[in-house]
Amino acid sequence: MVGANMLLNLDKNWDGTNVQDLIVDLVNALSAVRSLSEISCEMADEKAVIRLALSCLLSNQDIEKCSFFILDDSGLLSNVTGVSVGERAESDPVFSQPTMSFRMGEGIIGAAAATGEMQYCSNCREDDQFTLNADVNNMPGSIVCTPVFTLHKELIGVLNVSHSEPEFFSIWHKRLLQVFSNILGQLITNRRLFQQMEIQIATRTAELERLVEETRRLKDYYVSMSMQDQLTGLHNRRYFYDQVELAFAQHNRYEYPFCLLMMDIDHFKHINDEYGHAFGDEVLITVAGALQKLVRNTDILVRFGGEEFVIIFVNTGCDNGKTFAERIRDNIKNLRWQVGGKQVQITISIGLYCMVPESKLAHQYADIDQIIHCADTALYKAKANGRDRVEVFEATQLADEF
Ligand code: GH3
Ligand code: MG
Ligand code: MG
Repeated sequence: MVGANMLLNLDKNWDGTNVQDLIVDLVNALSAVRSLSEISCEMADEKAVIRLALSCLLSNQDIEKCSFFILDDSGLLSNVTGVSVGERAESDPVFSQPTMSFRMGEGIIGAAAATGEMQYCSNCREDDQFTLNADVNNMPGSIVCTPVFTLHKELIGVLNVSHSEPEFFSIWHKRLLQVFSNILGQLITNRRLFQQMEIQIATRTAELERLVEETRRLKDYYVSMSMQDQLTGLHNRRYFYDQVELAFAQHNRYEYPFCLLMMDIDHFKHINDEYGHAFGDEVLITVAGALQKLVRNTDILVRFGGEEFVIIFVNTGCDNGKTFAERIRDNIKNLRWQVGGKQVQITISIGLYCMVPESKLAHQYADIDQIIHCADTALYKAKANGRDRVEVFEATQLADEF
């Protein structure tokens, strides 16, 4: 029950205070409200915002103690923080009072929450509600409890201010506390909205980052798929064009030599015709694996198409290029397959073009297609000269070709 003297009628407390005092009160009231408006709604902790708000109130008003009872999800009002003038001299100006909780409608705090209206007890020491369970000597003289709402009229909690003197609170206090509570409600609403927005932004940002990462992964996957030969697992022609551009650019800039090998399995059609396409595939896979073992990590090996493979020997001169090409030809010739009780062997023909500074002089207008054409011409020569051999495109052929 709310005692009779707690009914809100503060106006009659005004005893005709002189105008000068009124002006001082007014300035104090405005100062309290103004300092409240300076609290940032970006603060992460709601209780810290409330503590600051209570400090603003105490700094600019002659009230002695104030506290705030927040309504929790279970409908209980608990004091998150308490500030009192007397104890503000301590090094920490804000301290927590022992936790107290009230249910809706319970005591003056519960009454303010349940009615949604300001409650005032002008003399707590004579109010049954206070005197029944408490030590009268430690009891405040008068208390004002103001409910605080969000902008959507949801109850946030109850602002509780007290003074040791009975009949202390005047009409000015009432009006100030009403305005102060409204602004505090707005501040807390803004902070909650700000927090929600921050959470939403963080969630959306995380979601966006996840999508970007997923897209990047998919793009990498499709790029690598589009550059890979499905049968042998080697890179394909598309990858080759990327890489040969790079080797060509480095050669033009730093004069790094490189060798281009065009390789073609001899009479492969016969292998397919004689032993079947599936066996032909097996041969291609084995040859790809063997080639992979024969090149260095830095070299570029691709399946150019069908039974043709291409290697770029990066940073390699003509002599080494020839040696490597012969080694490859020899290794492939020594591969063996067993099919239908027969042993199968194959040979390959290789066309080699060496891109060295000397050839650059003779070939200064060369482009990638011309380089490939040169290696292809050498391969054609290897086929024409009996297959199972390496032919090098000679610089002297350049004049004939271009
Ligand atoms: P040459 O010595 O002149 O190169 O004779 P070749 O028979 O190797 O050349 P040709 O171009 O006449 O035949 C190439 C064969 O390679 C024909 C084609 O069916 C076969 N081939 C191309 N791609 C594949 C493949 O992925 N799997 C299989 N099994 N065969 C393939
Ligand atoms: Mg071919
Ligand atoms: Mg062939």
